[in-house]
Amino acid sequence: MNMPSDLDISRSSPRRSLEEIAGQLGLAPHLLEPYGRDVAKVSLDALEEAGTENRAKYVLVSAITPTPLGEGKTTTTVGLGQALRHLGKTSAVTVRQPSMGPTFGIKGGAAGGGYSQVVPMEALNLHLTGDMHAVTAANNMLAAMVDNHLHKGNRLGLDPRRITWRRVTDVNDRDLRNIVTGLGGNDDGSPHQTGFDITAASEVMAVLALSTSLHDMRARLGRIVIGYTYDGEPVTAEQLGAAGAMAVIMREAIKPNLMQTVENTPVLVHAGPFGNIAHGNSSIVADRIASRCADYVVTEAGFGADMGAERFFNIKCRNSGLRPDAAVLVATVRALKAHSGRFRVVAGKDLPEEMLAENPDDVLAGAANLRKQIDNLRLHGVSPVVAVNAFPSDHASEHQAIRDVAEQAGARVAISTHFSDGGKGAVELAEAVAEAAEEPSRFELLYPDSADLRSKIETIATRVYGAEDVSYEPAAAKALKSYTENGFGSLPVCIAKTHLSLSSNPSLLGAPTGWTLPVRDVRASVGAGFVYPICGDIRTMPGLSSRPAAERIDIDDRGEVVGLS
Ligand code: ADP
Ligand code: MG
Repeated sequence: MNMPSDLDISRSSPRRSLEEIAGQLGLAPHLLEPYGRDVAKVSLDALEEAGTENRAKYVLVSAITPTPLGEGKTTTTVGLGQALRHLGKTSAVTVRQPSMGPTFGIKGGAAGGGYSQVVPMEALNLHLTGDMHAVTAANNMLAAMVDNHLHKGNRLGLDPRRITWRRVTDVNDRDLRNIVTGLGGNDDGSPHQTGFDITAASEVMAVLALSTSLHDMRARLGRIVIGYTYDGEPVTAEQLGAAGAMAVIMREAIKPNLMQTVENTPVLVHAGPFGNIAHGNSSIVADRIASRCADYVVTEAGFGADMGAERFFNIKCRNSGLRPDAAVLVATVRALKAHSGRFRVVAGKDLPEEMLAENPDDVLAGAANLRKQIDNLRLHGVSPVVAVNAFPSDHASEHQAIRDVAEQAGARVAISTHFSDGGKGAVELAEAVAEAAEEPSRFELLYPDSADLRSKIETIATRVYGAEDVSYEPAAAKALKSYTENGFGSLPVCIAKTHLSLSSNPSLLGAPTGWTLPVRDVRASVGAGFVYPICGDIRTMPGLSSRPAAERIDIDDRGEVVGLS
């Protein structure tokens, strides 16, 4: 079957007015602040006007450990949101705003795909309403105030060697990872080594996602720790007098962005924290608004269930107080075949030819990963529903193999063709989700705030990742001790590790056991509200590949965008 491109589907889908889209959720037109024809900000007054009851069933979409290609969480999130409406329910989809780094780097757009996308995809993938730029500006203004503080006498006694705050930009630019600023004469600052991260990896972005209101965001910005004094005391953005101005820069960014899917299902796009050193989930504000307005809220968490879902439960839900009713686990034939260890999937390249041949045994050989990720959802008391995201190259026997594994593990399962068929292709999935969500919620956090940081790390490592043990390098042990002394010990932890394995080694596929999680260093996003242990090589500024997507992206004769997906 020859399907039109994502961009063509996006362009040819009939749009409804945003008033009509908001109307599905009972949100009155005065709550919309239009940004052009295709996107509107939703006023935070919606939180009050929609009442206080969180009436929606709250559904998380996660996945088995993915290949570098992604297994279709966004596509499934959108498809499921659309399908619930085929069952006569109101639904709202809540997703992250894509970073322009990956868009112009390797991944292309991130609006979903086929007949399950957010439209218009150009708006979603590019600037949207400028939230990314606001995050960048707020972050960099704080950096400028730190440098200015040093230049103007260093009243707080900041130790220049212990400044942890860096600058950010929303472009993959490896040459900015390590830089020297302050070159020039006496009036040009003092030279020091620093660097840029990508905006999506910034603490300010994590703050945006985890704030529960404008004033909560203001308070979190104030708690950001930018470095330490000569005496080892943490110094905050509040102490530098920067937090109020940062909140002003972000005042519009805290409002979620309303869009629609190709089937006119409401979508709230808001915040885009990365899934490695941040928690990889869209905003709490958007989910709170949606939970008061729709029968179902369907949201996506980045990477596999060991990563995004664990953080959704233990960081996002801990902060928001919202409780999930069901969790979808996206599984694909290609990822399970990859977990067999018989094939190598490389980002930016076609799948190996042998992988496309019908072979349910290859699927079964990778099934340990699916079983473990089902367990990871159950560990939090949430009912798992396995969504087999059907690709045109799959074979029915291979879908059946996934169905058998999921059923043996006691999970609900549905084969879903939302990519080629839109919402009607995910009706079986929507029915399974509705059933799962009707079960009484037994949701529980994996660890209490009061557990110490080491035991939080060890609980996630052994129970979610399947590690035997955790080891700490001296820098990590020292950081943990100082964070505890500084009063950050009650924060949840966000473990930065590869998303390509349940372990910290991307080449260990399936569900590896008998390994040790090596904690190299530990950092703290005190404002956002988590401590993040670093396990393995984690990049906070990606680079471009030898053939970046940017080379294919252009404008055509009519000035329209081409090559975005
Ligand atoms: P994730 O959110 O898990 O990273 P996406 O939903 O962004 O995954 O999908 C990754 C890529 O795979 C996208 O380019 C998407 O269009 C494509 N894709 C997803 N599901 C299918 C499918 N069933 N058939 C064909 N392509 C798909
Ligand atoms: Mg996605």
